[in-house]
Amino acid sequence: MRTFDFEEERLKREITKLEAKTVLLQLPEGLKPEAIRLARRLQKLGILPVISADPCYGACDLALQDAESLGVDLIIHFGHTKMVKHERIPTLYIEARANLDIEKSVEKTIPLLENYGKIGLVTTVQHVHMLEKAKEILLGCGKTVAIGDSGKLPHAGQVIGCDYSNAKAVAKEVEAFLFLGGGRFHAIGVELATRKPTIVANPYQKTAFTIEKEAKKIVNQRWTAIEEAKEAKNFGVLLGLKIGQKQMETALILKEKLSKAGKSVFLLAIREITPEALLQFPTLEAYVNTACPRVGLDETSKFHKPVLTPKEAAVVLGEKSWEQLCSDGWFGN
Ligand code: SF4
Repeated sequence: MRTFDFEEERLKREITKLEAKTVLLQLPEGLKPEAIRLARRLQKLGILPVISADPCYGACDLALQDAESLGVDLIIHFGHTKMVKHERIPTLYIEARANLDIEKSVEKTIPLLENYGKIGLVTTVQHVHMLEKAKEILLGCGKTVAIGDSGKLPHAGQVIGCDYSNAKAVAKEVEAFLFLGGGRFHAIGVELATRKPTIVANPYQKTAFTIEKEAKKIVNQRWTAIEEAKEAKNFGVLLGLKIGQKQMETALILKEKLSKAGKSVFLLAIREITPEALLQFPTLEAYVNTACPRVGLDETSKFHKPVLTPKEAAVVLGEKSWEQLCSDGWFGN
């Protein structure tokens, strides 16, 4: 059995229903190695698949413009749930849910959760169908379990890199979170968003661990970045060009507020925010990123200048204290 379910029969049915002759396949980095196999299957059905080889980290980056310029009939976006509201081209989302046994990894979290009775359960879309099983295991160990549903994401308990509203929805009633899934970033995000201890159950490696040290390290790095930015005179406000990341209004408000605070501010439109891209502007001393929040938080040490989130910029502007930021968490309003 494959690790991820690409729903290939549904894919075939939908393509036939839409009478699509050319399709654009868009997969995130971890799933891209499957692209050729999927394209081969589509070719056998007489369909022309075009594979988007550009990086894709979220449904915020739906390849609409590319699909339009290529003139394809359909976009097939794998690995994420719908985020962009008005698609100009028919788009099929394939969540690519994982086929894994989660028992061992969840059982391994029990000793790490021994001081907590009320647990919030969160995960990424790949494992939302496994939350009930995880809940059963925790209940069997005498825990109380909450799965948040803010109504902002397609699935209860789901988190994405820039939306932890389902975790925040139950943060007040739980003592700790259990994050089910691979990677570390989402678990760190849960801890930064809720300020509650977060334990990871990784079903791929059948491991369990706490994310506390890494979250603390990021909080320290963010404090340093904010302090450095307070000294800066010349700011760049990053305006994301990806369809689900564009926040013109926020960028303009930040420009105005920073200008009023005596800073010199420039808007920079950008698709991929990388340290190399920002190195081209040596006179800018700090940035506020209105696009993907994970860029600065996930990779603080790679950037040569502070790259703040809008919430962190509020600390620089004196609208919010560092303590408030720490207690409110890094995501949401
Ligand atoms: S904005 Fe960033 S965190 Fe949010 S979905 Fe896009 S890539 Fe993920």
